[in-house]
Amino acid sequence: MHYVSTRGEAPAGDFAAVLLAGLADDGGLYVPSAWPHFSPADWRALRRLDYPALAARILQPFIGDAIPFASVEALSRDAYRGFRHPATVPLVQLGPHLFAAELFHGPTLAFKDFALQLLGRLFDHVLQARGEHLTLIGATSGDTGSAAIAACHDRARLKIAILHPKGRTSDIQRRQMTTTHAPNVLNLAIDGTFDDCQDLVKAMFADAPFRAAHRLSAVNSINWARIAAQIPYYVATALALGAPEREVAFAVPSGNFGNVLAAYAARRMGLPIVRLIVGSNRNDILARFLAGNDMSLRPVEPSLSPSMDIAVSSNFERLLFELLDRNAEATTAIMQEFRASGRMPVPEAAWRRARRLFFGFRLDDPGTEAEIRRLNDEAGYLADPHSAIGIAAARAHPPGPGIPVIAMATAHPAKFPDAMARATGARPPLPKPLADLYEREEEMIEVLPDLAQVETLIGAFAQRNSSEGHA
Ligand SMILES: *Cc1c(COP(=O)(O)O)cnc(C)c1O
Repeated sequence: MHYVSTRGEAPAGDFAAVLLAGLADDGGLYVPSAWPHFSPADWRALRRLDYPALAARILQPFIGDAIPFASVEALSRDAYRGFRHPATVPLVQLGPHLFAAELFHGPTLAFKDFALQLLGRLFDHVLQARGEHLTLIGATSGDTGSAAIAACHDRARLKIAILHPKGRTSDIQRRQMTTTHAPNVLNLAIDGTFDDCQDLVKAMFADAPFRAAHRLSAVNSINWARIAAQIPYYVATALALGAPEREVAFAVPSGNFGNVLAAYAARRMGLPIVRLIVGSNRNDILARFLAGNDMSLRPVEPSLSPSMDIAVSSNFERLLFELLDRNAEATTAIMQEFRASGRMPVPEAAWRRARRLFFGFRLDDPGTEAEIRRLNDEAGYLADPHSAIGIAAARAHPPGPGIPVIAMATAHPAKFPDAMARATGARPPLPKPLADLYEREEEMIEVLPDLAQVETLIGAFAQRNSSEGHA
């Protein structure tokens, strides 16, 4: 399997190369050169496997010769060992044909653990084979940073430095990042906003000598391996509800379009998915696109579902490339126009194509709170604000009689105690392994949003003897 860039100019690479590269160097995103295909018999054969074994089988065609299958299987088993539910992805029935797939039983209580727990191990494996080390850097408003640190703090060949805006993440998210006490983790609390953090990370990458001297790589949501690692839970839940003999639909609360893009990939691989319903909060660029081909930038506004507070859905470029029949030139022109004008000129025919599969849905904060309350009252179910938007989206666009809709529950309700308390009157307790989170000692360095100061700290951290980098 090899990978090509959506902009058509970067060299093709194998799985290991795109894993390490993240973004393609023409500014595009890597996609597989062709979609692997599973026959109905292939899908049926997966039914007898547990989640880690199933995940390895789904990932194998994407990884190709880059890593031997036995290693992929071992890494997958190790990655999902730390999940707190024997089903890994339990399904909870909420209505006659409505289900929630709980993706929040991993170490940081959000679906990003599925991809990042595996990614940390894949990085380690590839670096070991090459005899190399790497320092990952990233900016976070909460979930990505905590999931990435949880995935990397015990990896021998990785160090990780995360910039978060001081005082602007939730207490739980910050504590998950700052209480690992691993020598290969550096937390910088930037006296500024999330945008300041992101600008600093971009500036460090633009500083070519700095980047090369310290072997830096990015933690971000556009790494192809992250998308690939999210495909298996769509397969596992569809099979549990009768696929490939039965069609299914999914509803996905969406920000950067990464989670739902994995569902699209599963469909391209032959899984009978008839509809994908995309949920947004007030930051509704995707809902506006699907409703009226209006993909235009608006300022980000804070909401009850902070992990979906985005202006741009960065993974959408991968879908656009497909909607344009993989025309890299057309994709490049449209993305350049979007960058220049803040409006994405998606051709009418491509938009109509998207609408055959995708439905958009938007829910504001009062609507989200009402949905959390309704689910608690009617089904005794606690859904966090992100999951509640997914479930409401599923109810808004039912695909047809008898077709089950699976709503992706992306975060544990205990991650958003204030919103839950307002909607239901109670604060959900943290699961056992995190119960002492508020007693743990925190470690972070406060710093101004100043590139020279941040580079000094990260440079010294990256240079530290790598043997100190072992957990
Ligand atoms: C990141 C996140 C999302 C959005 O996922 P995308 O892949 O960015 O669309 C939704 N819910 C939660 C809880 C998240 O952490």
